[in-house]
Amino acid sequence: MFFENAANLGHESVHHFQDTASGLRAIIAIHSTALGPAAGGCRMWHYASEAEAMTDVLRLSRGMTYKNAMAGLPLGGGKAVVLAGGRRAPDAELFRAFGRCVDALGGRYITAEDVGVSVDNMRAVEQVTPFVAGLPGPGNSAGGDPSPWTADGVFLGILAAVEHRLGTKSLEDMKIAVQGVGKVGYDLCRQLHEAGARLIVSDVSADNVLRAQQAFGARAVAPEEILYQDVEVLAPCAMGAVLDAQSIPRIKAAVIAGCANNQLATADDGSRLAERNILYAPDYVINGGGIISVALEYMRDKTIDDTREQIARIPARLTEIFETAAAQNKPTNVVADLMAERLVAAAEAHGH
Ligand code: NAD
Repeated sequence: MFFENAANLGHESVHHFQDTASGLRAIIAIHSTALGPAAGGCRMWHYASEAEAMTDVLRLSRGMTYKNAMAGLPLGGGKAVVLAGGRRAPDAELFRAFGRCVDALGGRYITAEDVGVSVDNMRAVEQVTPFVAGLPGPGNSAGGDPSPWTADGVFLGILAAVEHRLGTKSLEDMKIAVQGVGKVGYDLCRQLHEAGARLIVSDVSADNVLRAQQAFGARAVAPEEILYQDVEVLAPCAMGAVLDAQSIPRIKAAVIAGCANNQLATADDGSRLAERNILYAPDYVINGGGIISVALEYMRDKTIDDTREQIARIPARLTEIFETAAAQNKPTNVVADLMAERLVAAAEAHGH
């Protein structure tokens, strides 16, 4: 089943690692190196089963191929998952063990932070391998925690989506629901609040909800209600697969634009949204800010200004997708996939 799934999604290779001393159990999936080394974050999560971890890493790594291609980066797509719940806490030894796994791939995979993984964890990885980013550099150099950069791109993407769908450049008094106010969601809320939006938030962490309520006057609702609020914009910023055949008919927002990876449970859910005239900003395009920062850090000689400049291109890319989707009467996810697949195919044809 694993070989079949990986082959179906077009993966180059999938690597399982276990380390007895640290208790590490990890999977690194390399989807494509057509455009360059496979880059994508490392997620640490309590998976219900090994099969669930496998499905996650396969989907996420393929998403990275598309994300990196659409961000115009010379990188392929890969991803790592560390299975939480082993006998150790996620300490430096565990992440040094993970770093040795990354190192063993000889630079075909470059890692960074994702859900459940911190800058400190990546510092431990850096002790044993050079194939890592997401670490703050000196002065004005690009890099560090990718989350604020992801939030910057998502904010600009929301402005583009709102302009396309609702015909306004202003978020003043606009009602926006944010699902998940963690690293990216919180920073996104700050920018939306500063732009005058009225925020409705939800999180499974009561502390995170309180933080957003206190800082931005956000109204809080229960996690099972956040998708169905009477708002103009819904920003999924927690986990994936929240948009499906059950949830989509109940959504009231005109625009869905958030940072979460793999928001659509299946590609058909993009059609379901289009049929309801809900404008969906393809996740891997709008949330590319973090990987842009990671990539420029990895290139060593880039600055924060370079990062800003590349992130500023995200809204135009989204607008191109929205306009093509409208002109061709296709769902936005289909248009984005075709654009990304063309970029990867062109690199393969040139024998990169
Ligand atoms: P995070 O762990 O800091 O935040 C996620 C938040 O969602 C947490 O506060 C968590 O409690 C909350 N949450 C989990 N389940 C929830 C639910 N059912 N309802 C409401 N809240 C829930 O992670 P993050 O780095 O902010 O990433 C958020 C999403 O964005 C993830 O899907 C991640 O893959 C994606 N993403 C992150 C980055 C980045 O730079 N960090 C880049 C691209 C994509």
